[in-house]
Amino acid sequence: MDPIVLKQREFYNQHKTLDIHFRINALKTLKKAILAYEDRINEAIKMDVGKSNFESYMCEVGLALSELTYMEKHVHKFSKEKTVYTPLSQFLSRSFEKPSPYGVVLVISPWNYPFLLSIDPLIDALAAGNTVVLKPSEFSPYTSQVIKDMIEEYFDSEYVACVLGDSEVSSKLLDSKFDYIFYTGSKRVGKIVMNKASQHLTPVTLELGGKSPCIVDRDVDVKLAARRIVFGKYLNCGQTCVAPDYMLVHESIKDRFIECVISEIKRQYASLDDYGHIINEKHYKRILELIDMDKVVYGGKHHNLQIEPTVVDRVDFSDPIMQEEIFGPVMPILTYSNLDVVIDKINSMPSPLALYIFTNNKQVSKKVTSEVSFGGGCINDVVIHLATSNMGFGGVGESGMGSYHGKRGFDTFSHTKSIVDKKRIIDLPMRYQPYTKLNEKL
Ligand code: NAD
Repeated sequence: MDPIVLKQREFYNQHKTLDIHFRINALKTLKKAILAYEDRINEAIKMDVGKSNFESYMCEVGLALSELTYMEKHVHKFSKEKTVYTPLSQFLSRSFEKPSPYGVVLVISPWNYPFLLSIDPLIDALAAGNTVVLKPSEFSPYTSQVIKDMIEEYFDSEYVACVLGDSEVSSKLLDSKFDYIFYTGSKRVGKIVMNKASQHLTPVTLELGGKSPCIVDRDVDVKLAARRIVFGKYLNCGQTCVAPDYMLVHESIKDRFIECVISEIKRQYASLDDYGHIINEKHYKRILELIDMDKVVYGGKHHNLQIEPTVVDRVDFSDPIMQEEIFGPVMPILTYSNLDVVIDKINSMPSPLALYIFTNNKQVSKKVTSEVSFGGGCINDVVIHLATSNMGFGGVGESGMGSYHGKRGFDTFSHTKSIVDKKRIIDLPMRYQPYTKLNEKL
């Protein structure tokens, strides 16, 4: 057993985290820490993925602070016992559900939103009364180091610890028995995590990825759709788990859509100063290999880990770019004429983490959101469904299991005990042996 896990288990068994005031104090401490470290966090995110301060705030620090505020406000209510209906057969008793922390939790996070995807699960796990070992990504070393410094300055490691290291360190941690594991990252590693967790029968949440489709109906405000899609597709250079991966555009509006996309790219990315870059050489090469230069209608230039916002037309499902999650700034355009065929096609592929439908027709959006299996998504927008504490965020099927943010996050890190508190004043004799007399009556 890893010494940090042992230490945290000893601390957890002192039951201090059961006290709601202890948890609220922890959330307040974390907020204080983030505010004190904000400049360092922004700087580190810039070094790792090249995000501007504004984008770091909009997509990472600001969202984490907002989840903290939400949790501080609601944790008292979330953690209360809830009385439920008692069946007549259990007369006289009170039945209630009691949310309880799991204990010692492991959070493993990726590099693409290196701060948010480490801190958001930490917030939910602490609110639910757990201790946490956090293992951020080795591919975002500056942010991971700042997170470690911040946590070490503000928390005792017996309560919250940050362990730096690569897959080997992560794998070794997974050999220890945790009470809950929360993993965000690739499907490949998700399978390893689940396999290792099964050795201790530890429950897991897996926040994975996949190819998230974006359908653009014929009845649509093309200009607005293009503007919003360009924002979400090229945000963080396309390295966003919920980025619209590929476009399914009604054939009647395809040319106009491409025209608007290109003009939006020119407008939003006139300068690439705040655009960022691909995380490393391996991913850079991988993305470039997915681009069929003969089909590029915009962009395609690249240097120094930066790939221009790129649009690829005349793509079909057999192209290399449709065989894996792109996770880069390349927008493949596919067309359709029949919505039912599109729905069947998406449902024949692994369930995506996100799905987007752009349409002015309510029946179309209702049909798509009802008939397709996907984690979450938007109607007439992209990406923003994850930026709220009022709804859960998570995948389904191969894009993940479980969810977090707000109440869902609190529930994810809590086990709900179902308890019957039986009163002593009445004790009905029927259930006790011998049943002879009752048998005779029947
Ligand atoms: P990754 O799976 O390579 O790494 C994530 C974490 O797992 C890192 O901390 C890493 O050290 C650890 N890890 C790597 N190999 C391991 C092993 N063998 N055993 C144990 N731990 C190991 O993922 P990534 O490349 O950093 O992230 C990209 C993927 O994550 C994409 O598919 C993306 O869609 C997905 N993602 C999903 C979400 C979401 O919220 N659903 C968010 C961001 C990214």
